[in-house]
Amino acid sequence: MEKRTLGHTGIEVSRLCFGSLTMTKMQRNLSIKEGAALLVDAYKKGVNFVDTAQYYENYAYIRKALETIPREDYIIATKSYAYDTITAKAAFEEALEQLGTDYIDLFLLHEQESEHTLRGHEEALLYFAEQKKAGKIRALGLSTHFVAGVLGGINHPLIEVIHPIYNEKGIGIADGTREMMDSAIEKAKAAGIGIYGMKALGGGHLIPTARESISFVLVNPNIDAVAIGMQSVDEIDANIALFSGEPREDLHDRLRKQPRHLSIDDYCIGCGNCEKRCNHNAIHVIDGQAVVNENCILCGYCAFTCPEFCIKVI
Ligand code: SF4
Ligand code: SF4
Repeated sequence: MEKRTLGHTGIEVSRLCFGSLTMTKMQRNLSIKEGAALLVDAYKKGVNFVDTAQYYENYAYIRKALETIPREDYIIATKSYAYDTITAKAAFEEALEQLGTDYIDLFLLHEQESEHTLRGHEEALLYFAEQKKAGKIRALGLSTHFVAGVLGGINHPLIEVIHPIYNEKGIGIADGTREMMDSAIEKAKAAGIGIYGMKALGGGHLIPTARESISFVLVNPNIDAVAIGMQSVDEIDANIALFSGEPREDLHDRLRKQPRHLSIDDYCIGCGNCEKRCNHNAIHVIDGQAVVNENCILCGYCAFTCPEFCIKVI
């Protein structure tokens, strides 16, 4: 598996990053042992980079995997919605304790929209910068679905890594086109910022053209790595094959036949939490029941807000 250094951070990551949201109770609902086994399997095949978040509540999988994977050989990126010192301290200490580590490689502000939201999280960022100075965080960054989020990161002196939504068709970009995101990412890269993308398969919409869509992202010299959610050994092997330029048609055919979708159980009470949470205008309550539409990128974030636990990505 090819590795790249993330911008000026000196942190070397495999180009395939293990997106770990897929193993949580909102998606495949793997046991800790099963999820950790997938992380270890991917690591043994060259994937040394995992993406998680405080919001995902899945640190236990990584902690378990670290019983096998040497900590110094593994890059952990996590994200938080922290906005002030108190929430930042809580998020940081939770990450250390639940991951069973004494440092975090990449700590990102989650879902930043622009320089304005970044300004609103400045106090948290300063707290994380202090932890960096103390050697407990290696690099700081942000994740975003917005072109303006990438541009905001470029102009902020503490942001070293950006995790933007990026795919061939521009699916899920909240405020512009693929071309606008291309241009923002190019500027970020030129400014020395490391880039690892998300949603290269557009939340499942591009699975039918997975080979072309992954290749499109990988040939972009500005993209250092790409996080892809994986929930089985078949998916790990299929993605490693794609990233190695030697696609496994047998695996892809099998995966193409099992496209993921958002499942909403019929005991939905129509509370509207999911509709409020969705940034993609992809779910609405109609006649008392949540209904998803074609804008959905399968991020699964609405599932965390459902009081009835009736939303899942399956
Ligand atoms: S409906 Fe849910 S899973 Fe789909 S884009 Fe919106 S928040 Fe994400
Ligand atoms: S959050 Fe859950 S219960 Fe509420 S409307 Fe959405 S699916 Fe239904």
